Formats: sequence, structure tokens, C-alpha cells
Amino acid sequence: MAKKQSFTDKMSKKKGSGAAHCPVCDEILTPVRVREFATEGGRRRQVTRMVKLCKCNSSEIYG
Ligand SMILES: [Zn+2]
Repeated sequence: MAKKQSFTDKMSKKKGSGAAHCPVCDEILTPVRVREFATEGGRRRQVTRMVKLCKCNSSEIYG
């Protein structure tokens, strides 16, 4: 999962300007904010992370 994400990241960086497309499904990658929990010093904290969303990972993110 992590490998796939970094691969997508690399490809979108390469293209540079304009909307990034997913190299797998060729959909435009939509940046979305996902909330998740991070543990910091024994305390659970909610953090927001930006994720580029397309067909490939939409089910992963939205469950
Ligand atoms: Zn995709």
C-alpha cells in the first residue's frame, strides 16, 4: 500500500504543472483531507492528512 502511494506521488511530481493524473486508472487525482488518529506520547490525537484520491484508492480511504 505504501509502495503504491509513493509511486503515484512520484508520477504526479514528474508531470509538474496542471492536474495530476493517476498512472494506473488515468483519473484526475483529487486532493482530499482525511482524518486519522496519531498516538503522541501516549495520547491519541486527531490529525488531518492530504491524500490524492482516484478510483484506485477511493475504497481504501472511504472504506
Ligand atoms: Zn488510480
